Order: sequence, then C-alpha cells, then structure tokens
Amino acid sequence: MMIVMQSDATQEQISAVVSRVEANGLKVHLSRGAERTVIGIVGDIRVVQPDQFNHMPGIAQITPISRPYKLASREFISEDTHFTINGLPVGGSSVVVVAGPCSVEDRTQLLETAHAVREAGGHALRGGAFKPRTSPYAFQGLGEYGLELLAEAREQTGLSIVTEVMSVDQIPVVMQYADVMQIGARNMQNYSLLHAVGESQYPVLLKRGMSATIQELLMAAEYVLSHGNRRVMLCERGIRTFETATRNTTDINAVPVLKSLTHLPVILDPSHSTGHWAYVTAIARAGIAAGADGLIVEVHTHPEAAMSDGGQSLKPERFAELVRQVGAVAAAVNRELAPQPALPAGVPG
Ligand code: PEP
Ligand code: MN
Repeated sequence: MMIVMQSDATQEQISAVVSRVEANGLKVHLSRGAERTVIGIVGDIRVVQPDQFNHMPGIAQITPISRPYKLASREFISEDTHFTINGLPVGGSSVVVVAGPCSVEDRTQLLETAHAVREAGGHALRGGAFKPRTSPYAFQGLGEYGLELLAEAREQTGLSIVTEVMSVDQIPVVMQYADVMQIGARNMQNYSLLHAVGESQYPVLLKRGMSATIQELLMAAEYVLSHGNRRVMLCERGIRTFETATRNTTDINAVPVLKSLTHLPVILDPSHSTGHWAYVTAIARAGIAAGADGLIVEVHTHPEAAMSDGGQSLKPERFAELVRQVGAVAAAVNRELAPQPALPAGVPG
C-alpha cells in the first residue's frame, strides 16, 4: 500500500503518518520525489485499515500496489533510480560499461586486463575471486588474494570493482575490497544471501537466474530493497531455452519489460547470454538500443588460456571496438557513455 502525500505536505504531517504506520508494527519506505512524497507500507498490510488514515492532514491519496514486488515497482517509485559508485553515475542518462575477466587468475593477467579495460573506455572492472563452477574440480577462484589483486587494479586504474559474493560468510571480506557485490545467477533465489546483502547497504548487481522469470528477479530484488538497500542493479544474463547454438538465449525483451515494471537500473551481460565472443558485440549493441543502462562484459588478454569462460571473452582490441559501437548506439537513443572515472593521484594519464 502507498500513501501519497500532497505536494505541500509538511514534515510534521509526514511524520504523523509514518508514526501511525509504525504503530501497526509495519515498516515504512519513504520516497521523496521532486513532485511528491510517497510513503510505502510494506509487510503484512492486512493489519492496516486504510480508514485509520482518514482525516489525517497532508494525505492526497491511499492506493494499493498491485504488483507482488512493492519497493521495486514503478508504481511505488515512478522516477528512474540513479546513484553513484565512487562517483560513477549509474542509472541516469549515461550508460556504464563494466568489463574484465571472468576470473581473477594471477596478478599479471588482472593488471594487464584492467589497464586494457581502462584504455578502451570501460568504467568499472569485473573479476571473480569466488567462482560458482559447475564442476567441483574446476578452478574455484583465488579467494581473498583475488580480491587483493582487484583492489590493486583499482589503485592503478581508478576503476571500481564488481565481484561476486557466493555466500553470507564472504560478505565482510568482499566489502573490504570491492565496490559492488555481484549476486550470481545461481544464487538469485538464495534468500539468506539476499537478506544479508540487503542489510549490508552495499551496491548490488543482481543477476537473473538462468531459469527465473522477470517477476522472480524482481521479487529477489525486493528482498534486497526491503532491508533499506536501494543501490540495486538488475542484470539480464541470458536464460535457458531449447536453443543450443548459443550458451543461453539473451532475453532482450527483458530490458524494456524491466524498464517499464521497475525504476531500478538494468544492465545487460552479452557474454554469458551468448557464450561466444563473436556474438558479444552485436548483443551489446542490442542491449543499449533496447534501453539498458549498462553492460557487463568479459574481457581477457589471452582468452585461449583463460581459466574460465575464455570462449566468450573479448580480446582488448575487440572490446575497444565494442565500446566505440556502443557509444554510437547510445547516442542514437539519446544517451551517452558515462565519463570515465578520474585516474588515481600520481598515475600518469
Ligand atoms: C560471472 O559473471 O562470471 C558469472 C558466473 O555469471 P552468472 O552468475 O550470470 O552465470
Ligand atoms: Mn564468467
């Protein structure tokens, strides 16, 4: 349920409504837009009788939120959510490109790739230190050492770090080194993990499960938002279909559908959604043309030797071309690439 306040409602009137909601044992989520303040009431709203609010001054209207996700819905927050990550704007008119290797493998590989991503125009660096692998015998990631290397790459390039967190106990160490916690497709419905990253108040990149519906993705986002964490990006990374020509099928529909259902930024992953480097740039262009707010792309200096996902990783020069093409597509849909973050002090440009 949401209570829309009149545009000239006073702070006292807003506080009075909030206190009345909280007296019912429910949580309130305030959304202060340019035009109006909306008080979202989430939880088991059966205990709330709308007539409790009759005659309270400052209220314009009381309406139910029809979707099962509340805080994630456009009904609750009509304007696009935007925020910054170390100064990098996410979710506004600009488009961000996150890139880097699937896995952090060693210092040389990571630093070379990070510099190449920066030179090609990337905005943030991705790289897995904790890897969710289908086989228990496959490379599982470097763990905390991998995170240390990511932090070193940030020091050298100014690129913020996006890395996966696979379990609740990894959250503190990932927060110590990284800037964005990625929830992988396989963990999209790991509710204790969603709860914990929600409580962390740390920026989250939430990937769609490979067999999850758009509504299930939004319900997963709701878990994070319901703990007061508003810095959530959604990521379409391809879904499983009967088609075997590609690793997954890019659900390009999901981009405009999500943009209409939710105010959260939408990022497209053309690497996992195709599984082949040769298709990555075309699908990256399609994602931005469809309205995505950014991309997350796998890049490797020596894809043939990669310890995971080499077949879908772009070499740096191909990635540079992707950034050029995506910039042109962004301009065609009245967007532009975000400015690159400043180089750290003391690093020659
Ligand atoms: C990844 O980003 O490397 C990854 C494992 O992605 P997903 O969770 O989408 O499979
Ligand atoms: Mn990968």
